[in-house]
Amino acid sequence: MLAYRHGFHAGAAADVFKHSALIHCLRHLVQKEKPCLFVDTHAGAGSYNLAEGFSAQSGEWKNGIGKIAAGGQVNGPLPAMLEKYREICGAGTGADAGVYPGSPEIMARFLRPEDRLVCFELHPGDFDSLSERFNSSEVRAEARKEDGLAGLLSLLPPPSRRGLIFIDPSYEIKDDFDTIPGMLQKALKRFSGGMYIVWYPLLETYPAEDFAERLMGLYRGNRCRAELHHADKTAPPANSPRGFYGSGLVIFNPPWTLRPELENTLPALAALYGNPGKWLLQWEEKA
Ligand code: SAM
Repeated sequence: MLAYRHGFHAGAAADVFKHSALIHCLRHLVQKEKPCLFVDTHAGAGSYNLAEGFSAQSGEWKNGIGKIAAGGQVNGPLPAMLEKYREICGAGTGADAGVYPGSPEIMARFLRPEDRLVCFELHPGDFDSLSERFNSSEVRAEARKEDGLAGLLSLLPPPSRRGLIFIDPSYEIKDDFDTIPGMLQKALKRFSGGMYIVWYPLLETYPAEDFAERLMGLYRGNRCRAELHHADKTAPPANSPRGFYGSGLVIFNPPWTLRPELENTLPALAALYGNPGKWLLQWEEKA
């Protein structure tokens, strides 16, 4: 039984990081006329009211989107990537009872009539919220209560050969660290030209460096790895059972414009979230 509920962590610093990068990639993809397939393999509830339920209970968003909504504490204006993120979150950035968009809702906001969005979620409670949003009103978007990794393979390659795949597991099952590289390898065989964004946690109890390097080794085309450390590995927050001290993204086929954006944004996020200078960006071009 899955215990993780993203509501507790919606709007926290890890969301700010992954969602602002996701938004940048989506903006790039929809510049071209060709239809796109968007896939969210681990979708969560779709959107959240930060003033209620799990989000209000944990209050994690206050140190995440809460700081961005307040204008940030960075020196000077927010980097463009974060400014765009704040704009997309709109009224859902805090305790005003607006809708804070999770990744499915963010992707839905970029859907054009010719595009398609498929979201996978296994938790019954989160699936109900997700399907209420998508299976009723949005013909171009659908929610499926299926394993996102197996489901993804059945969708590849998209007929237009253009797509963005967002892979954002909770890693509550340790096997995820093994199944994700295996599944990615299969997905890349079917659709090597896709844009893939994989999120991973930095945990005191697991060698995330090995995992990230393994992911980077799966693909020889353009790829990047970005990390944001909220704390030192040896001193994770006391209330974090698995020693969560930050998170990372591996992206295959990122838009080239993402590199300067990350170079601006990562130092700003590290300063904002209390660990100045603790970030990493590795950018590899096709050999
Ligand atoms: N992507 C969401 C966002 O950014 O708003 C957050 C997703 S949350 C980190 C991970 C979700 O994956 C959880 O809601 C969990 O129930 C779900 N999940 C776990 N294993 C899954 C699987 N094999 N297939 C689909 N969903 C899964």
